[in-house]
Amino acid sequence: MFGSTHLLVGATVATYTGNYFFGGVAAFLSHLVVDVIPHYDFPPPNFNSPKPMILQMAGPILETLGGFILLYICFLLNPHLSGGLLILGGFLGLFLDLWHHFPYWREFTRKITPTFFKIHEDVQNEELLPHLAGRLMNLPVIIIAIWFLLSY
Ligand SMILES: [Zn+2]
Repeated sequence: MFGSTHLLVGATVATYTGNYFFGGVAAFLSHLVVDVIPHYDFPPPNFNSPKPMILQMAGPILETLGGFILLYICFLLNPHLSGGLLILGGFLGLFLDLWHHFPYWREFTRKITPTFFKIHEDVQNEELLPHLAGRLMNLPVIIIAIWFLLSY
């Protein structure tokens, strides 16, 4: 799923545990749960493509940035939210994609943690929906996460 989706779900899950340790663990695991939802991701980065890496990465970087902005707006709107839990949960919710899909260390992390890399690949549910519908699947998840953040 999108980086913004993982970020917001991780932050939400951590917030509802109200605890840094369990919040961190739950946010990390939430990544795998969110990836089980049928979706379509941006294609993995390709160093052999004539398209510069920064342009290949523009989509994921911009939508993740959008997720940060949404998270910050939630933080401003709801005084009950803990900034620390939002940052920790957001970061750990996003972590698996930074670890496994970021172009410059993708091959390295694939080699040093092959089992975990495979688990992350295996939970992906990308065949069920056409591309656009698969991308739109992020929207309801983002809306639900924001609803939970604002009603905490
Ligand atoms: Zn992922």
